[in-house]
Amino acid sequence: MKRLAGDSAAGREKILLPYTSRSGIEYAENFTYVATCVTSGGSQADFGDLFATGCDCEKECFDGCICGRDQHGLAHYHPVTRRLRTSRCSYVVRECGAGCSCASDCSSRLVQHGITIPLQLYQVEGKGWAVRCASDLPEGTFVCEYAGELLSTVESRARFVEYDRKGSNFLLVLREVMGSGSASLRINIDATYYGNAARFINHSCDGGNLQIELVRIGSNPLPRVAFFTSRGVPAYSELTFAYGDIPVPNVHKAHQSSNENGETNNTAGLSHAVCKCGTPACSGWLPRDESI
Ligand SMILES: [Zn+2]
Ligand SMILES: [Zn+2]
Ligand SMILES: [Zn+2]
Repeated sequence: MKRLAGDSAAGREKILLPYTSRSGIEYAENFTYVATCVTSGGSQADFGDLFATGCDCEKECFDGCICGRDQHGLAHYHPVTRRLRTSRCSYVVRECGAGCSCASDCSSRLVQHGITIPLQLYQVEGKGWAVRCASDLPEGTFVCEYAGELLSTVESRARFVEYDRKGSNFLLVLREVMGSGSASLRINIDATYYGNAARFINHSCDGGNLQIELVRIGSNPLPRVAFFTSRGVPAYSELTFAYGDIPVPNVHKAHQSSNENGETNNTAGLSHAVCKCGTPACSGWLPRDESI
């Protein structure tokens, strides 16, 4: 039986993640759906919060809470709308964690609760699978985390070479530059074998309508990688972001083709994937970062 419609998340998200094939091309379930990152090989990543410290707010956190304050003393998420303040300086976003005395539905806890908006997978001519939302999304809405296997840098470099040859790559590399400016934490997430809705989000040369943020939950040293809308997005518009090295203060990211159509071109022995974003800013090729 052909799988042309169903729940892509296979019950692993709190809400359904429906997919619908319009072209009659079967949904290729060639990866394991995970709601959050796993360690290499698929076991649950330990996001534990040992020696947890946190705020002593009662029930709800407001501006002034020690968790997630920006340079103006404002909470990273607006306490009423629960949306990211996209105007803030690009610090790592902080959420309340296990050591905080506030309630689990505090406005400073979004990414840790997973996807709550009605995302859908659908097919776009020439691009393959894509992601959209069935409701309007105001600027700063949390969309989803980028889930996959957390890899060591050695392993991610080896896989990059392999994927580069195949012309398909779900490897996302981010660098969090520390305060000193000289040290950085490198985060390698591969959504090839384990992933979530984010692995289907396509690239757009104009920067798209999503922005990536690193989100640290409680005192856990390892941040999550999360997508928020960078502007208002009408219902049923494709959700996209810029894979390459567009300026994101404090964050360096690289990601390559996730195009299932696998169109590639050989230039100087290097495989380059064709970009189908269709925006006036389109360069014709998906960005690739050989430095990863
Ligand atoms: Zn608080
Ligand atoms: Zn809180
Ligand atoms: Zn807190």
